[in-house]
Amino acid sequence: ALPIVAIIGRPNVGKSTLVNRLAGAREAIVYDQPGVTRDRTYQPAFWQDRDFMVVDTGGLVFDDDTEFLPHIREQAMLALAESKAAIFVVDGQEGPNESDREIASWLRQQAVPVVIAVNKCESEDQGLLQAADFWELGLGEPYAVSGIHGNGTGELLDALITHL
Ligand code: GDP
Ligand code: MG
Repeated sequence: ALPIVAIIGRPNVGKSTLVNRLAGAREAIVYDQPGVTRDRTYQPAFWQDRDFMVVDTGGLVFDDDTEFLPHIREQAMLALAESKAAIFVVDGQEGPNESDREIASWLRQQAVPVVIAVNKCESEDQGLLQAADFWELGLGEPYAVSGIHGNGTGELLDALITHL
């Protein structure tokens, strides 16, 4: 079976856009509405000589038990449990917030290696600065990327496949 890579992060950081980019979809279609991926969806991806499956998850929020959020949280946890590595997607334009810190603290307790993708960094100079803010999450080097434009994804994937 191919190794699975879980895409984790709070709502609207661009997880689904990044999944489509990494999966090399001909058009980067966000096939679900922003922030409302409820269940895990899988897409095949590859980088260099490695084939893997990317699993998109709903936006993870720990401190909100309204509506379908407990279900989404469970799906993200199930995705991580079956994954060889995870990409933790954060929003470089907004910077780190409390939800990111909660997710990071949970991820640090898991056995699965994590690579941080600081998304929405279309400007490469600014992206480096935006990414540096996420060192505080204690999960290693943050990689500036843009799921929409595609920049930075090579470095992100280089780091990712060292864990596969
Ligand atoms: P998800 O909820 O984490 O799956 O996020 P989506 O992929 O649905 O994207 C949420 C919103 O962020 C949408 O309005 C996207 O157009 C926007 N977005 C996603 N990726 C990027 C990016 O790389 N740059 C910018 N500027 N916006 C993005
Ligand atoms: Mg989504």
